Amino acid sequence: MGPFKLLINGRLVDGASSMDVINPATEEVLSACPRASKAQLDEAVAAAKAAFPAWAATPIAERKAALVAIADAIQANVAELGRILTQEQGKPLQDAMGEAFGASAFFRYFASLDLPAQVIEDSPQKKVEVRRRPLGVVGAIVPWNFPLVLMAFKVPAALLAGNTVVLKPAATTPLSTLKIAELVKDLLPPGVLNVISDANDLGGEITKHPDIRKVSFTGSTETGKKVMAGAAEALKRITLELGGNDAGIVLGDVDPKETAPKIFGAAFQNSGQVCIAMKRVYVHESIYDAMCDELAKLAEAAVVGDGLQQGVQMGPLQNKAQYDKVLAYIEEGRKDGKIIAGGAPHDGKGYFIRPTIVRDIDDGSRLVDEEQFGPVLPLIKIKDGEDALKRANNSSYGLGGSIWSTDLDKAYDLATRMDTGTVWINKHADLAPNIPFGGAKMSGIGTELGEAGLAEFTQAHVINMARA
Ligand code: NAD
Repeated sequence: MGPFKLLINGRLVDGASSMDVINPATEEVLSACPRASKAQLDEAVAAAKAAFPAWAATPIAERKAALVAIADAIQANVAELGRILTQEQGKPLQDAMGEAFGASAFFRYFASLDLPAQVIEDSPQKKVEVRRRPLGVVGAIVPWNFPLVLMAFKVPAALLAGNTVVLKPAATTPLSTLKIAELVKDLLPPGVLNVISDANDLGGEITKHPDIRKVSFTGSTETGKKVMAGAAEALKRITLELGGNDAGIVLGDVDPKETAPKIFGAAFQNSGQVCIAMKRVYVHESIYDAMCDELAKLAEAAVVGDGLQQGVQMGPLQNKAQYDKVLAYIEEGRKDGKIIAGGAPHDGKGYFIRPTIVRDIDDGSRLVDEEQFGPVLPLIKIKDGEDALKRANNSSYGLGGSIWSTDLDKAYDLATRMDTGTVWINKHADLAPNIPFGGAKMSGIGTELGEAGLAEFTQAHVINMARA
């Protein structure tokens, strides 16, 4: 595997130093990885700044063609990207290949968009139009749970709008992104896309960098606050996609047998390391026992292991710090509720935690109130949907949520009052490139995806012309 290189000014270069990337399924070194220095970040930003005027002036049709070429290159290499991603991130190979394919689809989607001027008035007296200008150099910062698809929320939109980019993956999952850098290096003019990897020490430098005009950040709420503070000095534009603690509200009219697998999938995909994973479920008392039993059965049957092995449904936690954090949350669950599946420590190598179901637990437990970001699902008994909605909304997070009921009017009514960026009905965590996505409250600022997401990489530019 490898060697992996940084992409700076159209050239693949070594890092100033090197670091190891660990395979979380084996705890062994997967590969050496370049570690960029602050000077290399500065070089990447300087290259992006120099490339900006020509890229911004490039006809949009050519920018779209470049995005399609990148989509083709990613798609043609889904198998290799998937294998790298599984080994650095942990997720099952099928899911990793799906993520790589998804990234190509997001590039293709943005290549289908335009940025037409909007005419506000066209009268004998005046013509007023709103055009969309690119911002300049964009810093794109990505976390470790979905390195490829979250990169593809940002990079194609930024490039289509005429910006140039410095992209930084997370320190524990840089390899698949660096592989993409290698695949696409000749598909864009030098400096238009630069990719650097760090040891979790250059994100702050990106947010403060005077020549970066916008930071598009996905990661935790705590780091998001630092990004906002770092961006304040130069009044940079920011988009923040942050943490969540998504609630599912399950009313008494659903069939537990039919609904449990859907909830299980929404909670345990990527071993629960999904910003929009269902992280707490409020279940009506009339079906509470049945729902707990069904979910426990699914948890017991789940195949957990190295994502490269066929048939594995859930891989390890991505890194040791996250593994230790989730184990601590499980202890909270043991104290505050009753564990009915999983919960036992894993012996042997790898950061594996079996899917863990906790019942007879309530709000006020850290496992319910906080974002544990792992394969643990607390189930809370409720008397009615209104009560559950109040509890669901009583959170500083507001990323996603879902309502489960056969009474669609009732579900819709509850959905309209859920204080989140997205509410799903009878499903959870369904994202698509053309659907805007963003968080309420401390889950984020701004929007990604869709035309609204594209607009965030632009400055509205009004031309107001007198005619008489
Ligand atoms: P994190 O905040 O620790 O790191 C995210 C990225 O920020 C990494 O690339 C990291 O190197 C970088 N970083 C570190 N310090 C920085 C600083 N001071 N300034 C700027 N960047 C810095 O997050 P994580 O642990 O990698 O990811 C998990 C979190 O991400 C969870 O909270 C999850 O909910 C959230 N997330 C949100 C979304 C969303 O769309 N809302 C999607 C995926 C993950």
